[in-house]
Amino acid sequence: MNRAGKTGKTGSLMPVEVALARLLEMAEASPIVEHEFLPLARVEGRVLAEDLVSTLDLPPWPNSAMDGYALNLADWTGTPLPVSQKVFAGQFPEPLQPGTCVRIFTGAPVPAGADCVEMQENAEVQADGCVRFVERMTVGQNIRPQGQETTAGELILTAGTRLGPIEQGLCASLGCAGVKVVRKVRVAVISTGDELVEPGQPLGPGQIYNSNRVVLCSWLQRLGCEVIDAGILPDDLSLTRARLTDLQDVDLILSTGGVSVGEADFLGIALREEGELALWKLAIKPGKPLTFGHFRNVPVIGLPGNPASTLVTFALLARPYLLRRQGVQGVEPLKFPVPAGFAWPVAGNRREYLRGRLEQGRAIVYRNQSSGVLRSAAWADGLVEVLEGRTLSEGDQVAFIPLSDLLG
Ligand code: AMP
Ligand code: MG
Repeated sequence: MNRAGKTGKTGSLMPVEVALARLLEMAEASPIVEHEFLPLARVEGRVLAEDLVSTLDLPPWPNSAMDGYALNLADWTGTPLPVSQKVFAGQFPEPLQPGTCVRIFTGAPVPAGADCVEMQENAEVQADGCVRFVERMTVGQNIRPQGQETTAGELILTAGTRLGPIEQGLCASLGCAGVKVVRKVRVAVISTGDELVEPGQPLGPGQIYNSNRVVLCSWLQRLGCEVIDAGILPDDLSLTRARLTDLQDVDLILSTGGVSVGEADFLGIALREEGELALWKLAIKPGKPLTFGHFRNVPVIGLPGNPASTLVTFALLARPYLLRRQGVQGVEPLKFPVPAGFAWPVAGNRREYLRGRLEQGRAIVYRNQSSGVLRSAAWADGLVEVLEGRTLSEGDQVAFIPLSDLLG
């Protein structure tokens, strides 16, 4: 049963990838060009502003991969060799005396003239202190050559790389105490809706707590953004205009709610009056209505207000937009195929992102997929993508997008 054809609506909805391509184009048109030099400990989640080229060979000299003995294989005739020196990591040895071996420990430089390290488990120390080797040895064994990881002049990380603990470690291994990163994107977060109340306040009739605000503020911080928390905005045109006017020094205004082309679409009205507006109906579920435009010169993204819709549209559209503005190239989330642990008998005309989990290698989905239910996402480890127009039997392949990747 495939209803997608029957509705005839598919054509009027914008495919997710088209919306994403347009957003990325807009992001490229206004890149963040300023950068700052920060100490390594403070660059997590930020984007590298210039290529990082190694000034060193790593390792700087050949070193031992084992605790054992360094020797020149040509000296080994079967007669135990005397030990001429001992070298620990952090020391620098004398050249190897011919006809001897050197006691050596992991990470210590291999003495000039030695061409092999034998691990101590394969060495027998004789009563006179000389060492007999019991296994066949080969030239170069257990030696990490100079420049094995990196050679001086090599490009290590390109501008536009997002920095996390591993990249920080790589910079440290090259001796960089700090790096140049793209300045933070300044994002103002607005939650629209007369019904919204902040947690901690009493809840009146008809009111609900504002959950989108904290979701977006925390998530944006993880993405290396500077968050300007612009609070709750009532459904009112003049207040909307005033709030947008106050936020002219930010790089993006990100709002939730009030984009459902209903009567209360004040954001859209304000953009139409004093900027430009694109109102997209996306082939995405949860989601669908999404506003993109400018208020005067400031880009504005208006996400749908239902908590699961906010989450999915932020993850798949606003997140890549924000990363691209910082110069990141690979902005699409990690996605891999898994067998469905559920059936999907009725095809939809929108691409669905079900909140799901992997269990025994199969994707299972939360029992309630309503766009108002944030609990579904708290339960989930990822989004299960079901393409528009598709039906599924259990065991068919679906794409799984881990939330851990989207949230980072
Ligand atoms: P809207 O997009 O304004 O029509 O809102 C759609 C639904 O999401 C309504 O049920 C709203 O009450 C709810 N909603 C909007 N904004 C928020 C928010 N910040 N936190 C929680 N729920 C919200
Ligand atoms: Mg609303």
